[in-house]
Amino acid sequence: MKRKDFLQLTGICGLGLITFSQLSFTSLQASYTREQLIGKGNPKITGNTYTSKMHVKAKRAFLDMKAAAAKDNINIEIVSAYRSFERQKEIFERKYLRFTKQGLSPKDAISKIIEYSTIPGTSRHHWGTDIDIIQTNTGPRPASVLQEKHFYGNGQFCDMKVWLTLHASSFGFYEVYTNHAQRKGFSHEPWHFSYAPVSKPMLEAYRKLDIKNILQEENIIGSAYFTDTFIAKYQKENILDINPDLL
Ligand SMILES: [Zn+2]
Repeated sequence: MKRKDFLQLTGICGLGLITFSQLSFTSLQASYTREQLIGKGNPKITGNTYTSKMHVKAKRAFLDMKAAAAKDNINIEIVSAYRSFERQKEIFERKYLRFTKQGLSPKDAISKIIEYSTIPGTSRHHWGTDIDIIQTNTGPRPASVLQEKHFYGNGQFCDMKVWLTLHASSFGFYEVYTNHAQRKGFSHEPWHFSYAPVSKPMLEAYRKLDIKNILQEENIIGSAYFTDTFIAKYQKENILDINPDLL
């Protein structure tokens, strides 16, 4: 073999090795533990309040998007970001107890909760990639901000909503629970956006978990009513019937 050919071959092999190790590094990074996926700690979460705690990559992208929107005179503010398992458990159980006290059957109480809220261990907010956002430079803040009416028509957050429809995807953010008539699961949430570059691989990993097992292990009030049929439907509609850009 001529020396030149040999050098070319080793050069290619060297390149091959680098590419291979980079690939394995990427796939290592994309593996998530059960704990990370159900909101029980993730070293990539940064921030210290419930409106600032986010996955470090999602936060960087959000700050870029916020700065770009500000240039168009739209101030975006997060009202909810990372939510731990324990926090989601408190929310779910408080609602469950309130609704059953009001006379709803356990089954009906759970159906009512999962119009907008998730069962602990199944929230996309556990990943630090999902945020609920509003606009803040359009007058006094309404008492209850996360309502559809504020995002459409003459609603106070309408300009932000239009801006996000045009620009959010270029920052990696997508609305999760769209208003497509055929979509099932959670009601339309015009305020809830997800950072796809991280949430897509997390959802992929999440789908491999045994949800039923998790829900039964965690001692959640009302969990006796999470039957096989209920969980299969919840998985199909509430977890997976989302914006196809996030699948
Ligand atoms: Zn949300």
